[in-house]
Amino acid sequence: MISQKRIEQVLRAINPDDVIDLTAALVKINSVWDPAAGTSEQPAAEHAARWAGEHGLQVIMEPVAPERPNVIVTLAAGPGPRTLMFEGHTDVVTPGDVSAWTHDPFGAEIVGRRMFGRGTNDTKGNLAAMLVAMAALKRSGVPLSGTIVGGVLCDEEDQMLGVRHFIDRGHAEAVTAAVICEPQDGMICTSQKGALRARFHLSGKMCHGAMPLSGLNTAPAMADLIQGLHRLESAAACRLGRDDHLGWPSFTPTVIQAPAGGAPQLNVVPGESRILVDIRTVPRQSHPAIVNDLKELARDVERRCHAHYDDYDRLLGIARRCDLGIDLEILTDRPCTRTAPEDPIVQAAAWATRTITCSEPVYGGVPGATDGTFLWALKHIPIVTMGAGDRQVPHQRDEWVDLDQLVETVKIYAMTALHYLGADRLI
Ligand SMILES: [Zn+2]
Repeated sequence: MISQKRIEQVLRAINPDDVIDLTAALVKINSVWDPAAGTSEQPAAEHAARWAGEHGLQVIMEPVAPERPNVIVTLAAGPGPRTLMFEGHTDVVTPGDVSAWTHDPFGAEIVGRRMFGRGTNDTKGNLAAMLVAMAALKRSGVPLSGTIVGGVLCDEEDQMLGVRHFIDRGHAEAVTAAVICEPQDGMICTSQKGALRARFHLSGKMCHGAMPLSGLNTAPAMADLIQGLHRLESAAACRLGRDDHLGWPSFTPTVIQAPAGGAPQLNVVPGESRILVDIRTVPRQSHPAIVNDLKELARDVERRCHAHYDDYDRLLGIARRCDLGIDLEILTDRPCTRTAPEDPIVQAAAWATRTITCSEPVYGGVPGATDGTFLWALKHIPIVTMGAGDRQVPHQRDEWVDLDQLVETVKIYAMTALHYLGADRLI
């Protein structure tokens, strides 16, 4: 039981303007990774580092790649076996066509209780919230048993180089739980879908469109592969049902390309083609089993195509060498994550949400991967994903965040740390 006195001591140390000002300052720094345009995470990371240093937190900056640093912020609160990590990323996705925005994407304009701009929602608001929560905990002077680490990381939106570097440098070794600060609209997300992305490369024989029998079109194999992917999806859906938090598993062909390279031309039968497939999984699916299914599908399609061309050639009285081939390459393999409801970090997040909102927490799952995926998969760190912001808004134009929810998030983060780092044991 944490005393009301301790709770109030922490809440008194939170100044709501801090999170609004820090979010605005970060949003005004364009941190899209775009070397051609000369923008990167560097200035946003430097701003966050300066802010944390000015508020008495320990700060180190580590270059991950040129102009792409991680910032590691530490609050060594007191002796104790637990280390709680808050994780937020400094990069944002492109605003796209700026003329389609009603608000300046890097203006941090406030209208009513909403702030608009790229990153307000995903995830500079939540990044600011975690730093403000850490600073408030320090300022409050409440005794805590353990350490808080703020991972202000680069490149979450693409290859997740920042979190991988954080792990490679050994920073995750002591971490016993992590809060992934991403827009989940106040929900506590305890699971994340896995992602398996693959490329099928099909080779036939290029030829003139007027003489298709002199080549080998990959189109029948493309069609068969697409149908096969759908069969795999429906088999998974029937076998597993709908996951309460994550919904249905999916096998989605997203890029269907023939020819695989060069300009397409109407009178040329493409010799090479490819299909990219984006597979999203739920916890009971095995990624190695799916890879086997994909390999088997490729072999089956090859076999059926050979049989099809043999039959067809016999019908026409011709004989072609059918050396149609399908190669499979796995591009990304990120597992699902699931943290048990009884885990201390879930309990801490639930208590914090109840204490601040005076209502029962809502639990959910994250449809995409986050930096938390690697912390969970590589270091077995239990994670929860939570933060301010409508879940549909990331990556859209006129991205926004509700400022009241953002201030509430600072309080929830601070209370989560207060509970997890066992202040009650010291009272
Ligand atoms: Zn994000």
